[in-house]
Amino acid sequence: MIKFASVNGEIVPAEGASIGVTDLGLLRGYGMFDFLLILNGQPLFVEDYLDRFWRSAHQLKLKVPLDRDQLMAHIQQLIEANGLDNASMRLVLTGGYASDGYSPSEKANLIIIEHEYPTYTPDKYEKGIKLLLHEYQRQFPTIKTTNYVVGILMQEELQKAGADDLLFHHGGLITETTRANFFIVLPGDRIVTAGDGILEGITRKHTLMLARKHYQVEERQPALEELKTATEAFITSSTKRVMPVVQVSDVVIGNGQPGPVSKHLLELLKEAEAAYLKNDVRVS
Ligand SMILES: *Cc1c(COP(=O)(O)O)cnc(C)c1O
Repeated sequence: MIKFASVNGEIVPAEGASIGVTDLGLLRGYGMFDFLLILNGQPLFVEDYLDRFWRSAHQLKLKVPLDRDQLMAHIQQLIEANGLDNASMRLVLTGGYASDGYSPSEKANLIIIEHEYPTYTPDKYEKGIKLLLHEYQRQFPTIKTTNYVVGILMQEELQKAGADDLLFHHGGLITETTRANFFIVLPGDRIVTAGDGILEGITRKHTLMLARKHYQVEERQPALEELKTATEAFITSSTKRVMPVVQVSDVVIGNGQPGPVSKHLLELLKEAEAAYLKNDVRVS
């Protein structure tokens, strides 16, 4: 059980933590968030997430109601209040209250909540996952907006298809999944992943930095036909890290087994996480 949440800077009991009914995030979908892991009581790669949080806010013309040090202090306060070594954390910023239900207020609402540490069964990594193609382009691809309607709406179809997630494509080109970035590996260990039209994942960023030391990397949206020649595919996200993809709709990727490149990158990422956590970044 998660005990506490932070609402506009105040630590409150998580149960019943709330914001008001005229909030523009609720009424008009005018809101954004970020999502990171807490490992050993430390927020992993938190600088990157804060950078993206402010970038998203700026693009949505939302004013973050505090500065970076203050937000970091709030994050730390909530981690301490809940006392969980491992968890995930969601920072949500919405348009604030609008008495007319439309005009943005001067004051955004800021919610910080923790969730249980997300775990996946080992077979997701050992056997790989299946994605279902879905033609769609997110409205503000570079912003982590709170709109996940398409993904949530399609959950039943996913289950029927025995697939783990949707893979979005548009005009014959692949962008990303509902909540993760997508990569293919072409013969010769060439890694291809979209460079624009996507949410720039923090896990994507770290994985690409590591990948560039060992592999050739092309940042462009992979074409749908390239799935047929790909030797491997994988997705990256904060919770899934580097997760192998062995099937996309009817196309079996490579030999249908997780491949060496995605395994290697997962190992490298875990090492990078451990190195980051060793340089304890807790604010004192
Ligand atoms: C959060 C998210 C990702 C992955 O980002 P990470 O920072 O690696 O967790 C990718 N695509 C979308 C649409 C997302 O919302």
